[in-house]
Amino acid sequence: MEVEFLGVGSALCPRRNASLLIGNLVIDIGPLIYPLLIGRDIKHVLLTHAHGDHILGLWHFLHFRTFNDSEKVKVYGSKSTLERAKQLLEATIERSNLSRLLVEWQEVENTFQVEDQTIFTKVLPHSGEIKTNIYRIGKLAYATDVIDSLENVSFYKGIEVLIHGVGKKEHNHTPVEEVIEIAKQAGVRRLYLTHYCEEEELAEDWVRWAQEGEIINV
Ligand SMILES: [Zn+2]
Ligand SMILES: [Zn+2]
Repeated sequence: MEVEFLGVGSALCPRRNASLLIGNLVIDIGPLIYPLLIGRDIKHVLLTHAHGDHILGLWHFLHFRTFNDSEKVKVYGSKSTLERAKQLLEATIERSNLSRLLVEWQEVENTFQVEDQTIFTKVLPHSGEIKTNIYRIGKLAYATDVIDSLENVSFYKGIEVLIHGVGKKEHNHTPVEEVIEIAKQAGVRRLYLTHYCEEEELAEDWVRWAQEGEIINV
């Protein structure tokens, strides 16, 4: 499975927002990600949570697709994430055009199917009432914008690659050293850190800073 880092940035710096592309599935569409999707065959959009740096490109993406394609895009996320994403569209598109958008919404919980792939999800705390879905797809797990802890190690057990967002606890993220400890206890082979502005030095050779545009095999 090829995984492309469309962006690895957090909301605090002018770099492409954290987003992943796996075949025809994209995880999160921040405002700086939409242009990268033009001309690509995207059929599925997975949302982690409703903060702007993860969903503000959705309007553009769906709007453009509706006028240039004939196939519906499926958008997956928790009930509250989808509600907020729909509110965003309702606030910015006139009603007559809203119903024409080529989109199908699918609420997710525990496990769900995207084509022949079973995806596992879990909701973790993030910021106030905004909670985040983390996802496990085959031997990969993606978790960003979460306050993660060792209690969640079982979710990551058995995967090879973990892509995890980092940040200060007081900003409602998980610090680098805690992410490394969670990955260690889960037996993860490769850990890619994402959702960051500046790289810090890392002591472990199985841990890397994900790079914008990088493609990895999982
Ligand atoms: Zn974010
Ligand atoms: Zn967030």
